[in-house]
Amino acid sequence: MAHPVEPEFRGARRRLVEQLQDGGVRDLSVLRAIDQVPRHLFVPPAMRHRAYEDSSLPIGGGQTISQPSVHARALELLQLTGRERVLEIGTGSAYQTALLAALAAQVFTVERNRDLLDRARPLLQQLDVRNVSFSFADGTLGWREYAPYDGIVVSAGAPHVPPSLADQLAEGGRLLIPLGTREEQMLTVCTRRGTQLDFRDIVPVRFVPLIGAGGWPS
Ligand code: SAH
Repeated sequence: MAHPVEPEFRGARRRLVEQLQDGGVRDLSVLRAIDQVPRHLFVPPAMRHRAYEDSSLPIGGGQTISQPSVHARALELLQLTGRERVLEIGTGSAYQTALLAALAAQVFTVERNRDLLDRARPLLQQLDVRNVSFSFADGTLGWREYAPYDGIVVSAGAPHVPPSLADQLAEGGRLLIPLGTREEQMLTVCTRRGTQLDFRDIVPVRFVPLIGAGGWPS
């Protein structure tokens, strides 16, 4: 990935990667992706000095970019090899989109907030990320045209698994979704086994609500 050489951020990013490694992140491809993607470009300028702290940060419109350790955990759970097609619901800052683009073959990302999408698209272009397709839509309905997906990541908290997302998951594919109330959720991995989904609880999380036909009312 081509990006401006900014030594002060590179050192901070390296320290974040070491911190994640100390915290138990083992997947080297995930650590490498975090080492490559300039997170400071995905947060508002006033937040840049905090871009390599392991914390979530506001990105505008009441939305937040998740904590790097949460992204790392989620990406490890997807077990990507570089050959997969992945659907992401909630582009937000597109930081996770850039990480997914480094780890999978193709990424399809859906966002319902036009302003965020209008910022995300040129940023990924600027970083020369070419394997991402964007959609301005209600992601609770998935993106039927390119289904099925080997992985689906939902970046907002849902009351239940939106049926369209379950339908668009490939056999053996993994769907990561925070399930619970509007305030608190359990990050859950759902794996497709024939007509069933296997559910595994991972860790309590707090995501902004998934708003849409298959999520919460706005
Ligand atoms: N992974 C992003 C997280 C952004 S916060 C990041 O790290 O920056 C969650 C995002 O989900 C918000 O941008 C919000 O607008 C979006 N969202 C909520 N409901 C949605 C829906 N039904 N379809 C698409 N995007 C949705």
